[in-house]
Amino acid sequence: MRLSKLFTKTSKTTPADETAKNAQLLIQAGFIHKEMAGVYSYLPLGLMVIENIKAIVREEMNGIGGQELIMSGLQPKELWETTGRWSDETVDVWFKSKLKSGAEVGFGWTHEEPIVETMKQYVDSYKDLPANVYQFQTKLRNELRAKSGIMRGREFVMKDMYSCSTDAQQHEAFYQATIAAYNRVFERVGLGIDTYVTFASGGAFTQFSHEFQTICDAGEDIIYINREKGIALNEEVLNDKTLADLGVGRDELEKVKSAEVGNIFNFGTQKSEQMDFAFTNEQGERQYVHLGSYGIGITRLMGVIAEKFADDKGLVWPESVAPARVYIARLGDDETVTAEADKLYTLLTANGVSVLYDDREVRPGQKFADADLFGIPHRIIISEKTVAAGTFEYKSRVSDTAEAITLDDVGKMLGLSTSQLL
Ligand code: ATP
Ligand code: MG
Repeated sequence: MRLSKLFTKTSKTTPADETAKNAQLLIQAGFIHKEMAGVYSYLPLGLMVIENIKAIVREEMNGIGGQELIMSGLQPKELWETTGRWSDETVDVWFKSKLKSGAEVGFGWTHEEPIVETMKQYVDSYKDLPANVYQFQTKLRNELRAKSGIMRGREFVMKDMYSCSTDAQQHEAFYQATIAAYNRVFERVGLGIDTYVTFASGGAFTQFSHEFQTICDAGEDIIYINREKGIALNEEVLNDKTLADLGVGRDELEKVKSAEVGNIFNFGTQKSEQMDFAFTNEQGERQYVHLGSYGIGITRLMGVIAEKFADDKGLVWPESVAPARVYIARLGDDETVTAEADKLYTLLTANGVSVLYDDREVRPGQKFADADLFGIPHRIIISEKTVAAGTFEYKSRVSDTAEAITLDDVGKMLGLSTSQLL
């Protein structure tokens, strides 16, 4: 992408009405636009980050047998009454409205009930199971507080997955596969070491659910961890019984602030019983389907990555989610310089490398400042000086030293073969 064509602009001033670092930086860099508290639009650069995160999550969900779909945002009241979750006393985040006919509808804040209703149409025999489906969707929640930027939105993108299994054993196999897949997701987006599978409150069917909590000062949760043993538990379940069950002492645990980036639940057959979701087993008997629910907060994850890696110059994206891997800054408008910069831009993009090409008529200082604010991993400068030397000037986003490198070096750094550089 050529920066001269991008409609968004960076801003030098921190937005006054925003206290969260993630939103401040993302707004300044032009990645998101704030509509109102807790409600943001995602602009081209922000969307690229979301799409990169989604691509990783999609690959991992497909890898364990998830099938992608998109469910509706509008939800009928009657469906949610079957499980007692329409009332505002039970669920305090509903946004509700009415059709012209007067019928009441709610805006999807989760999709457990609707997916059961859908799957009932297709699951009839044990041969139809397991069935695991997922979607990426904008959820609407009337959250009381929205002070954490995109880490807590009233409108946010979630990946939600639902598993339908014949029995506890089939359920458990998928549940464990999901834990492994989630761990790979957090590893791949750069949060591996700081993300813990965390014991949390479970609900009606199981003692615990599992949250994926990332250590983060801007997070809203408190967890207790043991780094060596890799054990983590949410403060909501910190009691003598849990400690005994997990075989860990209170004095072995460290208290940290964290952000819940994912949450997985075993529903057992509770919801299937409420909604009469059953199948015929091999013996010809009707049995209730075992259900699981698995969320990842896609936009919260983006916010956590922004928070955790940012420095005093701006955003710092891991290469796997960055809006572009390379930032090419062309200094000046000398003909040879322009030709060289255009050539490198074309070469890299032709080989599938995502590039932000700063071909704007602005001062070098602004180009450097914007490259830092955007947080692009690799910065390559092309100027009269570098053209004369037959090299490029290179700086990684995390190091402060510039060095002269050759086209071969660029290729090696980006994993391109020699023939791709011709
Ligand atoms: P929280 O405890 O933070 O309110 P939750 O337990 O209500 O979250 P779930 O219903 O389990 O959240 O949703 C699945 C995932 O969606 C969460 O793990 C989180 O990453 C993300 N998420 C939930 N609420 C929000 C929100 N308001 N804004 C952004 N992401 C959210
Ligand atoms: Mg949760």
